[in-house]
Amino acid sequence: MSFNTPRLETAQESAYKRDIEDSQAAILNVLEDQKLDSEKILKKKVIDEAILASIGDGLVVVDKEGRITYVNQAFEKLVGWTSAEVLGKHFLEAVPREDEKGNVVPFNERILSKVLSGEVVVADLTNPFYYIRKDKSRFPTSSIVTSILLDGEIIGVVETFRDITKEKEIDKAKTEFVSLASHQLRTPLSTINWYTEMLLSGDVGKFNADQERYLKEIYRGNKRMVSLVNALLSVSRMDLGTFVLEPEPTDIIRLVQTVVDEQKFHIDRKKIALSTHFPTAIPIIQADGKLLSMVVQNLLSNAIKYTPESGTVSVSLALREDTKTVLFTIADSGYGIPQNQQDRIFTKLFRADNVRGKDTEGTGLGLYIAKSIVDNSGGRLWFESKENHGTTFYLELPRGTVPDAFTE
Ligand code: ADP
Repeated sequence: MSFNTPRLETAQESAYKRDIEDSQAAILNVLEDQKLDSEKILKKKVIDEAILASIGDGLVVVDKEGRITYVNQAFEKLVGWTSAEVLGKHFLEAVPREDEKGNVVPFNERILSKVLSGEVVVADLTNPFYYIRKDKSRFPTSSIVTSILLDGEIIGVVETFRDITKEKEIDKAKTEFVSLASHQLRTPLSTINWYTEMLLSGDVGKFNADQERYLKEIYRGNKRMVSLVNALLSVSRMDLGTFVLEPEPTDIIRLVQTVVDEQKFHIDRKKIALSTHFPTAIPIIQADGKLLSMVVQNLLSNAIKYTPESGTVSVSLALREDTKTVLFTIADSGYGIPQNQQDRIFTKLFRADNVRGKDTEGTGLGLYIAKSIVDNSGGRLWFESKENHGTTFYLELPRGTVPDAFTE
């Protein structure tokens, strides 16, 4: 009789078995982890989708070629295209952009292109622009564009944008109010001016020294108020687009010289050394003389205001044959504009920190008005400045089409 006695495992066999069991346990763990991971991913995806859907702003995600990979519901509502219609399309083509005047903005000037090409532009809130809907209607927009980076490389862009029609309407109403109020204020201010002048002329009797001093203060204060109200009126007209340019043949040398002469009192008072350089070959240009005087006057009075006593100011005109333009340059040895505030110099009501204490009467409106006038005349206005060293403003004006009679 024989018995099948179970054979005892060899040590090697036991080791194999342990290895197999360990491997099985490891695989189970990995599978369990993967299950948890995919649950997590799914959960995250659902949350992300809910977040994107709840955003009131239009949102579009593009790949690095600018093709749309995702749009949210607000996007569909705002531009009228459904997600299915635009996915895979180039965003720049799917949603064209126009400037205020209705010109289509070229692709390379769109913020999205700039961000895709690596330029660090995130917000586009300054220039008003419009997006064109599927039905070709348009709405004013403000947008924020952010790059999507993977290991430091741009793999796409996210843009959020919103319809700012309401804001624009409120802004317009505000501007209309300022325009109306400043217009109405001019009449009583003229009356004060007129009667103060009459009193100061002595026509209605003599005043003692104190009375005359007080009257002069009233007169000066009123003059300042008149120029502030005029500046506000100009700003509101510009913002409303009702500022009309009336170009006419203009002798720019004469115009600049007249402005310089008008400022003579202030130049002498501050003992400023003024030099002028006007070559005789400067031709007549086509420009709105009144508005151009305003620009030159602002630049010159700033140069005087923001230069300490005994400083220098130089004014020059030059003809640029290559561009058929006239370049007006005004350089001072004054306080300069701090580097970190230079990008705000042409914004409404902005005054740099370094001059606020030195000149308390400024309004921060002059350069905004000047820039709007120059931009609307097809010219350019820019500056270079170094704090405590001085500032140079450049004003470049097109010659324009001058009638034959004035070209000699
Ligand atoms: P305002 O002179 O009434 O303040 P502007 O709009 O003419 O307003 O100028 C805006 C600001 O630009 C000034 O407050 C000043 O900070 C700066 N600025 C302009 N011109 C000069 C200059 N020549 N030198 C230094 N700062 C200047």
